[in-house]
Amino acid sequence: MELWQQMVRDSVHTVDELVEKFNIDRKVAEDLDEFFQARINPYYLSLIRSPGDPIWRQCVPDKAELEDFDAEEDPLMEDAMSPVPNITHRYPDRALFLVTSQCGLYCRFCTRKRKVGDYEKISMKGLESAFKYLEAHTEIRDVIMSGGDPLMLTDTMLEKILQRIRSIPHIEIIRLGSKMPCVLPHRITPQLCNMLKKYHPIYLNTHFNHPWEITPESSKACEMLADAGVPVGNQMVLMKGVNDDPAVVKELMQKLLRIRVRPYYMYMADETKGANHFRTSIETGLNIIENLRGHTSGLAIPHFVIDAPGGGGKIPLLPNYVVHHDEDKIILRNYQNKIFSYKNYNDKLNPGSKFGKNGKSQKTKVKELEFTRIEMPVLEEVEN
Ligand code: SF4
Repeated sequence: MELWQQMVRDSVHTVDELVEKFNIDRKVAEDLDEFFQARINPYYLSLIRSPGDPIWRQCVPDKAELEDFDAEEDPLMEDAMSPVPNITHRYPDRALFLVTSQCGLYCRFCTRKRKVGDYEKISMKGLESAFKYLEAHTEIRDVIMSGGDPLMLTDTMLEKILQRIRSIPHIEIIRLGSKMPCVLPHRITPQLCNMLKKYHPIYLNTHFNHPWEITPESSKACEMLADAGVPVGNQMVLMKGVNDDPAVVKELMQKLLRIRVRPYYMYMADETKGANHFRTSIETGLNIIENLRGHTSGLAIPHFVIDAPGGGGKIPLLPNYVVHHDEDKIILRNYQNKIFSYKNYNDKLNPGSKFGKNGKSQKTKVKELEFTRIEMPVLEEVEN
């Protein structure tokens, strides 16, 4: 058994452990266990500094979860957009492929609790129909493997899935949605990285939410992935009591760049059964972006998005930088609230681009030119 597997096995997960370790009332612990089981591996547990801190809030069950049972279980309507088991096909050229119900840690804010935990929640029997669907739908060029966490699969199982996806000619990129670099970085082994390298282009989106999660272990994991040619992006969820503070988010984003992880999304927390105590106002999120833009490198600024309820997809939000806009000009404010006027460009008075999709003139007939390809000399490898 590998170290990461042993750590999953050694996780806090029983009612007795919840009562003993976190002083949770037994009846509450039983109700919480019934609702969504706990899994807190020893690595992530070691990051807790005091009760109720940002790490604690993300992994320790809280009785507030039992107070909004009327909220949606599947706010993004992933199941309604599932043409075959294990596949959600929301956007035309992308498909979400659920490959396991297991995770290295069960996050209390998870929007996919209905699919996470018990093994039967995502069946491996559905894999074949999912592969057939991906093969038949030639418009899909991007497959996002998720779950659960795809890195909970063994290297052998993961490789079998990657091989099968790579045998489908129209699939150009594979993305792994994995929280393992953050919550159980020991999963990122040299063997895993060597295996992933064979199936490029592979991207990985991970899920750091607080600067305390950037440790020597998680830094090493992200750097190993980057060295293996896997670009790593981060999807942070905005959560009350975890990261609803511009200084915390700025520190996180800057530290992520240092470990070669590109901030990608900052999500509003979805309205989800048992997780609404994490939700903040939209203004909190806009204020965070306002405090990033101009104040730190553009690379450190994620897209702030709402995943629209009912399956509408991700919708970006920005603080309002436009003071006035008409045909002739746009009046803008910058990050220091200084005002600038910018002359508009009138498309109607200008013929616009001369070139259409096929590279030929749209507006005027121009004489066809013939281009001759210049043969380049073949460069020989020189040994140093
Ligand atoms: S790792 Fe992802 S799928 Fe698993 S519990 Fe956390 S948020 Fe949910």
